[in-house]
Amino acid sequence: MSWKGILAAITIAFFGLIAVMIWNTARMPSTRIDAELPDEEIEKRVSSIDGTEVATHLAEAVRFRTISSDTQLPNKAESFPAFHDWLESTYPDAHAVMERERVNELSLLYRWPGRSDCKPIGFISHLDVVPVEEESIEDWTHPPFAGAVADGYVWGRGSVDTKSNLVMTMEAVERLADDGFTPSCDVYLLFGHDEETGGSEGAGAMSRILTEQGIHFDWVLDESGGGSIHTDGSSKWAQITLSQRGYVTFELTATGVGGHSAVPLRPNAILGLSRALMRLSNSSMPGGLEGLALEMVKARVQRRSYLERLLVANTWITKPVVEWIIESMPGGAAILRTTHSPTVIEGGKKDNVLPKTARALVNFRVHPRDDIEFVRRWVRETIDDDSIKVSVYQERAFEAPPATDSSAPQVTRFKEVIGAVYGPIDPLIPGFGLAASDARHYAPIADALLKFEPVVIREGDALNPHDTNERLPIDSLARGVVFYQRLIERQE
Ligand SMILES: [Zn+2]
Repeated sequence: MSWKGILAAITIAFFGLIAVMIWNTARMPSTRIDAELPDEEIEKRVSSIDGTEVATHLAEAVRFRTISSDTQLPNKAESFPAFHDWLESTYPDAHAVMERERVNELSLLYRWPGRSDCKPIGFISHLDVVPVEEESIEDWTHPPFAGAVADGYVWGRGSVDTKSNLVMTMEAVERLADDGFTPSCDVYLLFGHDEETGGSEGAGAMSRILTEQGIHFDWVLDESGGGSIHTDGSSKWAQITLSQRGYVTFELTATGVGGHSAVPLRPNAILGLSRALMRLSNSSMPGGLEGLALEMVKARVQRRSYLERLLVANTWITKPVVEWIIESMPGGAAILRTTHSPTVIEGGKKDNVLPKTARALVNFRVHPRDDIEFVRRWVRETIDDDSIKVSVYQERAFEAPPATDSSAPQVTRFKEVIGAVYGPIDPLIPGFGLAASDARHYAPIADALLKFEPVVIREGDALNPHDTNERLPIDSLARGVVFYQRLIERQE
């Protein structure tokens, strides 16, 4: 072939490639929810709910200092029983139709018996909140446990994470019970007391009880970490989170020859440990953009520039570039692979004494594609030093639960309810979750784990869960209650 011929072939191939990429971008599947607005019945219901009254209830709930770390201290958990009593007196109709069991004294397991024995559904929430740092109290516009209602928000620790969901769920049950409604299948409310410290005494114990009873959920719904619907004023987009990561911390212990530092001896524990940590920090676990993470990225770019859509629509050829871009974004690596960071280091007590041992803790957040045993083998191989002991630190280690399939029937029904209550959503993002929550405890007894919060975040608004000035927009509450009502009514 002549040079001209080669050049022509390259040109045709180049433009052919561009045409294919443009074609793929145009054909990118949309995850939009097309809903017709307004659904009159829904709108009537929303306007019949007094959002200020729900806000007052949420504010009252915030005033109970149900700090999770306090439950581990003797005689420090009075706020939990007081909160239980408040729920009972504030929601009498809900308590009349539901059975309630206290689990490990502080958690609440409710069952609302349905008309038939079809698969139950579960609403997960938690009664506990994270502590407020003493130094930050002055930075709060309203004191963290005052339960202030001001400027369109309910302020305080727990107003978002997650007494908001707890109160909205209760309001929904209260109203349905008051109307004489009975669900078709059993409905469970699963309110743990120690979600913020791992959830094993609360959700873990409740899951064990339900397992013994042979209960298996069609789906369970949990918090998403603070508001799932976003709006710029004219349009809305939202995320339903379908996975979460596992958790394990490895303790690395290096042993050396102790003695006086005037006579340096080898091996040196601190040097051995440092070498191991450097090897880990210079390595990444295997990974890549695939599965739910890829679906999430594809949905997210629907509101982004054409170039970004072009890149993501053509990962068959652009994958390394897309992965490189994601890797360089804050938190981006987390959707690609199991990530790790050293969090604690110890060794040596005196400047002239060689320590016999040095230890470090390295925390891993396990991607759903991996398991803890695989991570342990990777750590051993990467450190490549038999003198370093590697063990799982403490009991708090758990596998990532399997991700829920974004095309599962539970997700489809859930989308219908979102559309009915919130109108068109573009896009609805199938989310890859970074943080763990109580939902993982129910993974063995639920067909689908869903994480979503019916709270609308306006552009520039900050809800600040776990942070200073945590606050929930009041205008989310009435519609949020209707959302939960609708889920209960449409459980099959
Ligand atoms: Zn939470």
